[in-house]
Amino acid sequence: MNLFIIIFTQIYKIMKKSLFNIFIIFILLFKIPSEKAKIIGEESFPVFKEDFTLKKYGFNKSDFEIENEKIKKRENLSIILSKKGISVNTIDKIVEKCKGVFDLRTMRIGRNYSFFTSNDEKELKHFVYEISKTKYVIFDLKDSLDVKTFERKTNKVLKTASGIIESSLWNSMKAKGLNTILATELSEIYAWSIDFFRLEKGDYYKIIYEELQLKETNEVVGIGEIKTVQFQHKKEDFFAFSYLQDGIESFFDEEGLSLKKPFLKAPLKFGTVTSGYSKRRYHPVLKRIKAHLGTDYGAPRGTPIMSTGDGIVTKASYGKANGRYVKIRHSGTYQTQYLHMSKFAKGIKKGVYVKQGDVIGYVGSTGLATGPHVCYRFWKNGRQVDSRKQKFPKSKKVKAKDLNDFIKHKNISLEKLNNIFIKDFS
Ligand SMILES: [Zn+2]
Repeated sequence: MNLFIIIFTQIYKIMKKSLFNIFIIFILLFKIPSEKAKIIGEESFPVFKEDFTLKKYGFNKSDFEIENEKIKKRENLSIILSKKGISVNTIDKIVEKCKGVFDLRTMRIGRNYSFFTSNDEKELKHFVYEISKTKYVIFDLKDSLDVKTFERKTNKVLKTASGIIESSLWNSMKAKGLNTILATELSEIYAWSIDFFRLEKGDYYKIIYEELQLKETNEVVGIGEIKTVQFQHKKEDFFAFSYLQDGIESFFDEEGLSLKKPFLKAPLKFGTVTSGYSKRRYHPVLKRIKAHLGTDYGAPRGTPIMSTGDGIVTKASYGKANGRYVKIRHSGTYQTQYLHMSKFAKGIKKGVYVKQGDVIGYVGSTGLATGPHVCYRFWKNGRQVDSRKQKFPKSKKVKAKDLNDFIKHKNISLEKLNNIFIKDFS
């Protein structure tokens, strides 16, 4: 950027008398690669609705002639300002003033900007660029050449949303014209209980949330906090009630238990670790060095094996090495696997939903095993990691002193959910 301005200034000084040379300068201007001020990406922001307010960006509309524009391809601050006749020297000073206030590299094609020319002196006074729908930056083009960022004031308006899953949560929300940020938020709220990659047709959701609207124009600019959610998945209801406790707002289920659940430390209530996770281990059956990507818990044959988290059984089958084993998908991130079972627990098969602590099978020594044990394997993002080295959030619940208040809050929220009508059902 600075190099560009220096070159520009030098050429300008040498050739400023000739119109033809100025033409050359403009050709150069588009040819010089200017990494710093390059405008990347293309985004379109909806044009603000016609508003009848008296002020724009805090300026009295009656005092100025206002030109509204959008950033075009290959435009950057210096190009935009020089087109308005602002000197290279001044532009350089403005660029200097931006340091630590506004990063010029973040200017994007399609975003709004405005020039403010005073009515009395007919002088170009301010340049305003919209960083986002709620943030903008004002450049003073006279005197101080100050650069300052501002935030628009917003109102939080309580809204409801609902829908039935046809293919994905994302598609359902898009089809209903909802902000898809809601889908992302839901997948985070339920990260420990629902696998949003495996939703089923007929699953449905009801959401009570805050919508952010600009105070000046009521234009919707985003999503505030999510208050209550009912998500029905595989005919089972998953509730999320946002509740403030000790100054922290977090989500609890209908029993007042936090939705963020750590995994159980081990799949057995009792038992001892007989072999840990290791990239190099002498295999007792194969009699050679081999990676051991799980933790072995030795226990008598028939000891119940529990699922360490809520999830869906993706495999309940037999393998030559694994023996009888179960694999459970907990979320898009986590999966667990339990090997060498003597038998599966009743009803455990592919597609079944299990809760944390549910018995899924019994200790045995099927497959490559010297004695009865369960080999517990922990998958994170498709890779087997050491379950005992994972850090999980502590499980919280609503404190005893707040429980009555929580139940009241829950009942009011449930009533609100009942009043949400799912249009797709009609
Ligand atoms: Zn093992």
